[in-house]
Amino acid sequence: MGEPGASPTLILLVDDQALVGESVRRMLAREVDLCLHYCPDSRDALRMARELRPALILQDLVMPDIDGLALVKQYRSDPATRETPVVVLSVREDPQTKRDAFAAGANDYLVKLPDAMELIARVRYHSKSFLAHRQRDVAFRALRESQQQLMASNTSLNVLNQKLADATRAKSEFLANMSHEIRTPMNGVLGMAALLADTALDDEQRDCVDTVRTSAEALLGIINDILDFSKIEAGKMDLETGPFDLESCIEDVLEILAPKVAEKGIDLGCIEGSDVPRFIQGDVTRLRQIILNLVGNAVKFTAKGEVCLDVSVEQDSGSNFAAGGSLNLHFAVRDTGIGIPADRLQHLCKPFSQVDRSTTREYGGTGLGLAICHRLAELMGGRLWVESELGLGSTFHFTICAQRCVQDPEPRYSAPALNGRRLLLVEDNATARSWIENRASEWGLICISVAAGGEALSRLLGGERFDALLLDQQLPDIEIRKLLEAFRRLPGLTGVPIVLLSAVRTRGVENDFETLGVRSVAFKPLRRRQLLTALCRALGLEAPERRLASGSEINRGLASVRSLRILVADDSPVNQKVTASMLKRMGFTPKIVGNGAEALAAVRAEEFDLVFLDVQMPVMDGYEASRQICLSLPKARRPWLVALTANALQGDRELCLDAGMDDYVTKPVRPRELEEAICRCVTRLKDSDSKAA
Ligand code: ADP
Repeated sequence: MGEPGASPTLILLVDDQALVGESVRRMLAREVDLCLHYCPDSRDALRMARELRPALILQDLVMPDIDGLALVKQYRSDPATRETPVVVLSVREDPQTKRDAFAAGANDYLVKLPDAMELIARVRYHSKSFLAHRQRDVAFRALRESQQQLMASNTSLNVLNQKLADATRAKSEFLANMSHEIRTPMNGVLGMAALLADTALDDEQRDCVDTVRTSAEALLGIINDILDFSKIEAGKMDLETGPFDLESCIEDVLEILAPKVAEKGIDLGCIEGSDVPRFIQGDVTRLRQIILNLVGNAVKFTAKGEVCLDVSVEQDSGSNFAAGGSLNLHFAVRDTGIGIPADRLQHLCKPFSQVDRSTTREYGGTGLGLAICHRLAELMGGRLWVESELGLGSTFHFTICAQRCVQDPEPRYSAPALNGRRLLLVEDNATARSWIENRASEWGLICISVAAGGEALSRLLGGERFDALLLDQQLPDIEIRKLLEAFRRLPGLTGVPIVLLSAVRTRGVENDFETLGVRSVAFKPLRRRQLLTALCRALGLEAPERRLASGSEINRGLASVRSLRILVADDSPVNQKVTASMLKRMGFTPKIVGNGAEALAAVRAEEFDLVFLDVQMPVMDGYEASRQICLSLPKARRPWLVALTANALQGDRELCLDAGMDDYVTKPVRPRELEEAICRCVTRLKDSDSKAA
């Protein structure tokens, strides 16, 4: 029986005897799923079979007009009936006839008239297997079709992919060009503004120049963000790796933000776990970028309270660090600012996303910073996440996988002379207090800390003795002058040096408070070295050696090398002026030329120690000039070649170095960067001098 509702199976009977037709009809009459069609005329048989497409043909052998065997052959050669099962019905029983029927293409042979049960069984067997075959063929065809469709869409996907790759390349090229085009005039704007700021200006003029500078810096920040972001998107952000001082990296960031922090009257501090290594391997610039962005945001969105950077080692991550392995560092930037609504938290790291439009109006920004930090943290083997409560503050966390530094780390600043001395610390901010306590214990000081001026006074009145006092300038309970005056009246404090901790970096703060017993001032956010120097100075001890040269030191160092012969090749008159003026201010007298060919000619005619080469110049570009200079002069007589270029994309540095240059400085160039490049050149010159000697 067929399934209810399924269409009946069609059977075609071809027989010229109406009696046979009627008998078969009766035999099948009760099989409701079988539908019999009868064809008495052999001339109509093929046409009917084609139209009906039966699941089985019952074929008489002996017929007028067309013989049954000939018809079977016709079914077999017609595409419409080629596969249709044919069961021959014949009165003849001899094997010869049966063999002929099978040879012509019949599937079965029944002697007329067969038993009804047998007929039905055979009809069902053949028609079912035919229908199953047909179904399988349909499925197979559909499969082949979808395979072909898949192949076709694969091909178009490949074409699309290619187009996308082309578009990405075009976008990168466009960005590189735009970056170059924007950087070049920005060099003029920033350079000139910096030079102008160093001249005598009245307040209004200074204000204008400062606005020009901060606006230009902001614009440059946006350009850098967009460039970084597109580099990350294109998978072209390669991290550098080298040893660096983690503590200095953090202190640098805090120092950059110090003026803003002081202006807002909030506290900014850092707590480092005692197991956090000071030196690690990695990309210091990118790490600084993440910290600066997160701490910068925290400061931006905090009106009162504090911002604190907490650095720790993730548990169980650094077991083999000492043996040359790696560990996971966890940075957490906590603030007491405006906070972020819960429903916005997961969107924050998407590019161009800000909490709401009013954020942009009130605080500015592109909404790219976090997206970049997020990706940078991932590139450094870590992750970034946020916790926040609206109105209470936010904590931005990120981790990085830090490699052990291969070179021997320098010892931390030590100060044996401080050992065992008693220090009274008066500081209301818990973060700053704990940071100072940690440093003090490293230096062997015995540090007693209190959170308020009143508490300090009562300890001193109680007769406690100290070798030095470390005093926050802004205490909640008492005005600093009043406190200092109270101290002066204490006989036990006579001669005890006082170090003031000040958040405001104004010149001459020391002098303001000198008469009140203040011996030295350390500015917040505190740096380890600076605090140590301030303490040593107050106690009349020798301060430890400075580790890294500061800007003023570079200047002092440069005084001995003012005779350095410098050549600048740049085609833009504005940029020539900027570079030349900066160098002149440092005390140099550079020679200026307008393209690579002129630079080459100058270097061949005269001796130079240092050549700054713009990269894109008419006649001969910087790369070619560098190659030619390298070819025409032996290494010992060759000047130190520095690319000075607005090409700031990945790979540009490598191109310059490949062309034979020794160093690379990007535009807009800052005096400090120029100084550092000169310092690297001087170090090299000294090295080769000492080797020659
Ligand atoms: P932007 O340049 O706009 O600051 P970011 O990607 O750094 O871009 O930050 C995106 C947005 O996240 C900010 O506009 C702000 O709405 C929110 N945000 C980031 N940091 C903080 C924070 N510490 N407190 C409150 N909101 C923050």
